[in-house]
Amino acid sequence: MNIGTEERPLRVAVIGAGPAGFYVADHLFKQKGLTVEVDVFDRLPTPFGLVRHGVAPDHQKIKLVTRVFEKTANHPRFRFFGHVELGSDVTVEDLREHYHQIVYTVGAQTDRNLSIPGEDLADSHSATEFVAWYNGHPDYRDHTFNLDAETVAIVGVGNVAVDVARILCRHTDELAETDIADDALEALRQSKVKEVIMLGRRGPAQAAFSLQEIKELGKMPHAQVRVPPDEATPDALTLEALEKEPDPAAMHKLEILGDFADAPDQGKPRTLTIRFLVSPTELIGDEQGHVKAMKLIHNELYLDDRGTLRPRATDRIEEIPAQLVFRSVGYHGVALPGVPFDSRRGIIPNELGRVTDPDSGKSRLGEYTAGWIKRGPTGLIGTNKADAHETGDRMLEDLTAGRLLDPPKPHIDHAADLIAQRQPEHFSYEHWKWLNDHETSLGESAGRPRVKLTTIEQMRAARDRCR
Ligand code: NAP
Repeated sequence: MNIGTEERPLRVAVIGAGPAGFYVADHLFKQKGLTVEVDVFDRLPTPFGLVRHGVAPDHQKIKLVTRVFEKTANHPRFRFFGHVELGSDVTVEDLREHYHQIVYTVGAQTDRNLSIPGEDLADSHSATEFVAWYNGHPDYRDHTFNLDAETVAIVGVGNVAVDVARILCRHTDELAETDIADDALEALRQSKVKEVIMLGRRGPAQAAFSLQEIKELGKMPHAQVRVPPDEATPDALTLEALEKEPDPAAMHKLEILGDFADAPDQGKPRTLTIRFLVSPTELIGDEQGHVKAMKLIHNELYLDDRGTLRPRATDRIEEIPAQLVFRSVGYHGVALPGVPFDSRRGIIPNELGRVTDPDSGKSRLGEYTAGWIKRGPTGLIGTNKADAHETGDRMLEDLTAGRLLDPPKPHIDHAADLIAQRQPEHFSYEHWKWLNDHETSLGESAGRPRVKLTTIEQMRAARDRCR
């Protein structure tokens, strides 16, 4: 009998309840004539991945994308198993016994290093830690950051760096209207930060932040954005490249950065300085091992073999004060137990979403991947939709060709029994709805979109009160 029918539904396990996982589920549910049951697992009790724990709290509109995911979750053949971890609670072997197809959509859970001396000093952190902390991620809620620092340096000029800079520069009255974690809000109330410095290793036209993000910085009521005028000006190679191949977004960024460079003093209490063509070469510590300064080298651009403008060190060096440092130079994937992994690229090796066995170079039967763990940490939330569809289409091709796992326990009750036995404390989607109602009602009385529960214990207690 065919798989994918009412009598024998296609059984799919999705590991990771972020945007990529939901987009895969949605794509499968939308196939006419296919009966598919999707179980989505996440190691956290809550769904939505970086939409909950990555998107900045002052960007509530972006979080509205969860309405799309809620529709998917309301499909009668969707189930959520939160607080269930692949590797400790269930293994790939367990999943092979219960599903025809397995999709890994776990994102990129760590960050890249700078590999410079002093990087491990106290008060030097990854931006991902800070982001997870202010967003109330249970693993990071007890982290502390030296907000007694007057000068904070952020290495990198991508959108994550801009998010971190904005949170440090905003007045806490602005943040108090958001769903920022309560502990972070309280810590930021005591902040002594006066200057935040973002450091780009290439020039202003090559900055990774998007146009909308940089425009928003200019509207911060409590911080003025400054750019050293000589660093806001593009170099000769950039001008040549823009003349050959006009890039409207880059031109617009140059215009905005030029305006920041020319702006008179606005008398705001904080300054956000954006620097270009500089790279940190060392973090300098004080006697207690806390960072106090950063050595920078000035760069120039050169054209590499592929025609990309890349940074190259000059002999000009500089030292800037910084008592708190964040590196924001990109995320990096983490290996899943029992799943192939390319540690250099931080991704699961794959062809168009089909997981590749590194030894044989062939596809692994019934295993797929989508999102950042498939392609690397690039793109916006919506980018994952096309990416997930690409993977979903490969899954459908394989279904048609009969290239599926042959699970000995294919009934939905078998999987539910397994999870109940391995992780009796798991959270269902119904439980998430209760948590969501609880958080939003706490928020309502405080004039905020929600007040986040930030420990598993709090979530468990809220769930048990609703039972
Ligand atoms: P990103 O966009 O890749 O930016 C990384 C930054 O780090 C770049 O400026 C890069 O410079 C720099 N960098 C890399 N290695 C470096 C090194 N060794 N030394 C100095 N600088 C270095 O990454 P991201 O900011 O982590 O963002 C990840 C993705 O999430 C992006 O696609 C981003 O757009 C998205 N995101 C979007 C939003 C939003 O829409 N609001 C918010 C957050 C994140 P080079 O360009 O020279 O490599």
